[in-house]
Amino acid sequence: MVTKIDHIGVAVKNLEESLKYYQETLGLELHGVEIVEEQKVKVAFLPIGDTEIELLESTDAEGPIAKYIDMKGEGVQHIAYRVDDIEKAIADMLSRGVKMIDEKSRYGAGGAKIAFCHPKSTNGVLVELCQRD
Ligand code: ZN
Repeated sequence: MVTKIDHIGVAVKNLEESLKYYQETLGLELHGVEIVEEQKVKVAFLPIGDTEIELLESTDAEGPIAKYIDMKGEGVQHIAYRVDDIEKAIADMLSRGVKMIDEKSRYGAGGAKIAFCHPKSTNGVLVELCQRD
């Protein structure tokens, strides 16, 4: 059902500052930066091997990433699993008793189709399902 770890989402206060660690210390390459208005977030993509680190900076004090950092501080915010068919994956999760934050897929950074599972159903991990065509 899930085929790989598509990316790991990391909430940061300041994207430019955080990129120094990923680019200069770890030597990763910045693949692009995108603002996703709907999520009030600025996203940077750093591929590593077969997966990616996704850095998330809030563009709004009321955005979900700003709220996350207020509550828990900076850090790993979600893990995204790749799926082949997001609508089928959502239906499968619901049929297996997983509470979904998104019962329909929505636009994700990088042109993906995404849906979040509720952490109450996933041992406290915010899980993103992610389809890329
Ligand atoms: Zn993500």
